[in-house]
Amino acid sequence: MKLKKILITISLILLMAISAVLLVSCTRPTYDKFTLNGWEYIALNKMQKKDKELDITKVDITRLRVSDFIDLGGLKNETLLYQGGDKEVNAEGWYPTLIDNFDVTYNENRGLNPDIWATSRHDIRHETNKKFHPEYADVWCPQMVSVVNNQVVVKAAYDDNHTCEVCKSYGYTKARFTGGFETRDEVLIKDSNGKPVLDENGKRQYKSNILWGQAYGYFEASVKFPDADGMWSAFWLQGNEMREIGFDGTDGTEIDIYESAFRKDNKKVSRMGHALLWNGYGSSAKVEGHINKLEQNLYDGKFHTFSLLWTPQCYIFFIDGYATWATNGGGISRVPEFIRFTNEIDTGDGWGPHGQKIGQFKHDQENYFYIDYVKVYQNIKFESSIAPSKDGKPYSKENNYESHFVSPYDGVN
Ligand SMILES: [Zn+2]
Repeated sequence: MKLKKILITISLILLMAISAVLLVSCTRPTYDKFTLNGWEYIALNKMQKKDKELDITKVDITRLRVSDFIDLGGLKNETLLYQGGDKEVNAEGWYPTLIDNFDVTYNENRGLNPDIWATSRHDIRHETNKKFHPEYADVWCPQMVSVVNNQVVVKAAYDDNHTCEVCKSYGYTKARFTGGFETRDEVLIKDSNGKPVLDENGKRQYKSNILWGQAYGYFEASVKFPDADGMWSAFWLQGNEMREIGFDGTDGTEIDIYESAFRKDNKKVSRMGHALLWNGYGSSAKVEGHINKLEQNLYDGKFHTFSLLWTPQCYIFFIDGYATWATNGGGISRVPEFIRFTNEIDTGDGWGPHGQKIGQFKHDQENYFYIDYVKVYQNIKFESSIAPSKDGKPYSKENNYESHFVSPYDGVN
């Protein structure tokens, strides 16, 4: 009898111990599948983090965090737009330049601050690839973007009775609608009768007005994307001279902080891309990218942070605060770039518009891409490396954030 009691007690203790071990292992962050390329350590050294000069063979290479590279301590987190003049700089030289928690909702501009944001170009994004199904086209309409409960929501849905007047005037009453927003306003060019001016291919023409741009700094956003097929959201930066050839990526590089183009066919394949593109999008285009294969599921319906540290020497990318890729691809852009949050839908055949298989978008469901906040900081030590503007004045809306770079190949692409 006594022996039985002892055995039961031992079993209970063992059970508790096993539960404790399980609990600990469940709560431990599991980012073990991030593959780093070693550049992360070069980046640390370039940033003169001497105490971080690590022997790559001896350290846990899966655990470098934003705080290993920079210290944003002591800085405010409230919604703000730095417009020159006095600033509070922390010990490491950082200060906030653009923080939007989307906690102020505007009556116009779909609720977004019109000084900073515009909805992405109101136009067809991609024609359908599906024969006999013109309604599988992807159309960007501002009506799909709104600010709700301190978050920006970008809806994606099929609509066979779309009522937007502009879309109707373009002939898009039946399509897959979604959109985006960015710190650039693409303004439709119209003739004296108010009709869109078309190019030789029949495409509407736009003027690109940058509302806000920055070269270098730390860019972070918290987003939640849909756990659904046929969707591709992204947080990215683009320079207005990126299409020019020459100077490699120093005169502008598309910086894809994240692209969610790798969830497909409901297989919960958790992959996430970072990429750089420079020298335009034609045959001269240069690309460098990295796809993270992740142990944890980023398509879990929760918010995740994606960020970029862009210094004069390197780019370092982070997911949920962990370094995931670093590079100096393209030679590092030296010009201000604008921010874009965009959502895309497959081109009707399960393929994304840029060659990734993203699965078929379903017409009987609505999907939502949420952006909780965006935070951008600048460091006073980076400022002297910024390329001069075209007119020698500080970069602003007035000079359209245009740099002094003039490529002999301007206009080729
Ligand atoms: Zn519309």
